[in-house]
Amino acid sequence: MAISPARVVIIGGGIIGSLTAWRLKQLGIEPVIVERGRLGQESSWAGAGILCPIQPWLYPDAFTHLIDASLAMFPALRDELTERSGISPEWLKSGLIVPFFPDDEVDHKQAALDWSQRFGWLVEDLDAAQAREHEPMLAADTDGALLWPEVAQVRNPRLLQAVCAVLQQEQVEIREETEVVGLLEAGGRVCGVKLADGEALHADAVLVAAGSWSGQLSASLGFSIPVQPVKGQIVLLKSEPGSLQHIVKHDRAYFVPRADGRILVGASMEMVGFSTGNTPNEVNALLNGLSRLLPGLADAPIERQWMGFRPGSPDGLPFLGPVHARPGLWIASGHYRNGVALAPITAHIISRWMNNEVPELDMSCFLPERTIVESEAIGFPVAA
Ligand SMILES: Cc1cc2nc3c(=O)[nH]c(=O)nc-3n(C[C@H](O)[C@H](O)[C@H](O)COP(=O)(O)OP(=O)(O)OC[C@H]3O[C@@H](n4cnc5c(N)ncnc54)[C@H](O)[C@@H]3O)c2cc1C
Repeated sequence: MAISPARVVIIGGGIIGSLTAWRLKQLGIEPVIVERGRLGQESSWAGAGILCPIQPWLYPDAFTHLIDASLAMFPALRDELTERSGISPEWLKSGLIVPFFPDDEVDHKQAALDWSQRFGWLVEDLDAAQAREHEPMLAADTDGALLWPEVAQVRNPRLLQAVCAVLQQEQVEIREETEVVGLLEAGGRVCGVKLADGEALHADAVLVAAGSWSGQLSASLGFSIPVQPVKGQIVLLKSEPGSLQHIVKHDRAYFVPRADGRILVGASMEMVGFSTGNTPNEVNALLNGLSRLLPGLADAPIERQWMGFRPGSPDGLPFLGPVHARPGLWIASGHYRNGVALAPITAHIISRWMNNEVPELDMSCFLPERTIVESEAIGFPVAA
């Protein structure tokens, strides 16, 4: 029988690395998080926190099973985090509305209804009047909408603050401002990492959870996962609580109302490498989406803009599990547009799998060494 690792180095302290560290600790395994910057300041901080894939019907069934299992864990996670840290991640069941307009380029309605029925997601098919009754801010020419009343959101920075506070209480070893530059190997096994300052950090196993940087990191470490950054820009509006009641999603943009009235408008999808900063073109495209879909909010003042790098994968699916060619090495990365939604199940499955428990879900289409079939629909964005 395989022996469980006593100590695991986790490369990357985003939501995936941090939550997995907590779950490993609960199993009696000592995690060490090595984070190049500060914990939870990259994609996991920047995201919109919508707990539902953008177009879930485009994904393979195994992905829906994974996301369903993850979403079911959120209420307990919220309670656990709030109780232990005193910080609420603001898990809010605001519901999701997908409106339809006469000038829509693609008609998703039937696919969305079929998928919802198949997987038991509660959905309401609204006519034009009902759509505007539920969400009065929708433009006057709204043709109708689908409403998923059970869809929730979290506020990413608060989620991360709460997880960090619990990691500190649990006395998890965290090395911030520390970059991993190589792997240590002995006897055909990965047995730790080399740090940028030359220090060798020994462990029984290593988990790569380096988000968008996992692709270039893996290449430099001598194995390969095709994760690339997909930049997303976001604009934050100041508004009154209740001015927008649901998450509203459309091909042009999405809008996420926070409990305090702020509305997050997102997000661009750009293959521009690691180029940082907001750009007028993408910000204007988001604001044009706002004027078109929710014209009553077009004058809401802009409070902030930011961006982040989604850890994209060519088939839209994360890389989860052991790297068989490099015993001792594990991956939890490439969560792309769904990393917050998938964080609880990722942490649960990866921690137990590292502890030699067989995953309760079929993980074959997420394995790091799977054959990749690129997807235009859910993989990397295609240049217009
Ligand atoms: C604009 C935007 C909107 C999004 N909206 C949503 C949404 O609504 N719902 C949803 O579920 N998901 C959303 N996402 C995606 C989600 O945020 C990501 O999938 C998720 O945060 C990935 O988490 P992570 O821990 O893998 O990566 P990250 O949070 O990026 O963490 C990786 C960490 O690894 C560190 N690192 C990298 N290289 C090294 C190294 N060599 N040594 C040490 N540390 C290293 C980095 O500094 C970083 O802190 C969105 C993302 C963006 C950008």
